[in-house]
Amino acid sequence: MAAIELRGLTKVYPGGVKALDALDLAVPDGEFFALLGPSGCGKTTLLRTIAGLETATGGSVVIGGRDVTGVQPGGRDVAMVFQDYALFPHMDVTDNIAYPLRIKKVARSARQEKAAEVGARLGLEHLMDRRPGQLSGGQQQRVALARVMATQAQAYLFDEPLSNLDARLRLEARTFLKKLQRELGVTTVFVTHDQAEALAMADRMAVMEAGHIRQIGTPAEVFQRPANTFVAGFIGSTPMNLLDGTVRGDTLEVAGCKVALPAAGPSDGEQVVYGVRPEYMSYSAEPVEGALGGKVVIVENLGASHLVTLDVNDVTVQVVVPEGSEPAIGDDGYALPRRDRALVYRDG
Ligand code: ADP
Ligand code: MG
Repeated sequence: MAAIELRGLTKVYPGGVKALDALDLAVPDGEFFALLGPSGCGKTTLLRTIAGLETATGGSVVIGGRDVTGVQPGGRDVAMVFQDYALFPHMDVTDNIAYPLRIKKVARSARQEKAAEVGARLGLEHLMDRRPGQLSGGQQQRVALARVMATQAQAYLFDEPLSNLDARLRLEARTFLKKLQRELGVTTVFVTHDQAEALAMADRMAVMEAGHIRQIGTPAEVFQRPANTFVAGFIGSTPMNLLDGTVRGDTLEVAGCKVALPAAGPSDGEQVVYGVRPEYMSYSAEPVEGALGGKVVIVENLGASHLVTLDVNDVTVQVVVPEGSEPAIGDDGYALPRRDRALVYRDG
């Protein structure tokens, strides 16, 4: 098991795309670290550079205190699971799981024993003679995990390993993978473009944009206090309200309404972006001081609650309303932000 440290890591592809821009990151030993960001932001490049499958243009990769920047993939002692699992179609489950051990020249009987042990741990014992084509997507994913675990690497790197599963299996695999990582205690970097997956699984997480890390923190920190409007807009199952505002003393003028200024700092008259999550406002059918008031234009069922969209002087504001108190379209509605959960951004 080992910590991973990236110092000033830069990757420029031939043709000039700067996929990683002087990136610093430290993942402590045993941590489950999620790397979240939109498609094309450099997540796969980052993993491949840690694994040694890409050569860094600048900076260094340190694993377990050892600088491995110039070391070949085989000498880095990390294992990577790819998005498409990369199983061998002509090999059965046992041979697929045991393949990395074969590369390491482990004897056949020891390989098979290890494959059986890891396979049983992942609930594959009755499938060991099958080929990948005879397995469901979820089973294939477990084989890919088993193959990585059989190698007993110092760190695991996962590149969107759940993205090919359907919604239900995905939720199961999330819990399963998280539990497994806890038990094994292996340092894990888990890449995803799904913010819910990162929030649910990670000990800590980073949000990436265009080759940069925009925020690092625990899921709670990133959810409750996004560092900038990019992260704010990216995190959350319903998007945060990000509204233009003007500072007026200790209040903010937003969409023609007056709300409390959440934090000191911005000066009188300054233009800012006011951020508040739909979950962090209370809804009222009657006027309330400090609320954003308008007409209900959409009511969406979220299951145990509703997402209500208000038109507030031509500005769209969304608020989550508990089951049973949802309004009808065309009603007047008022959304009162929680001051301790509202944020002001000056980067908008
Ligand atoms: P992500 O995994 O977050 O979707 P990638 O790491 O795959 O992002 O890609 C980051 C950027 O680098 C993108 O602009 C992508 O087009 C570019 N890129 C990725 N691989 C290569 C490559 N082999 N050659 C040139 N450009 C690449
Ligand atoms: Mg990718």
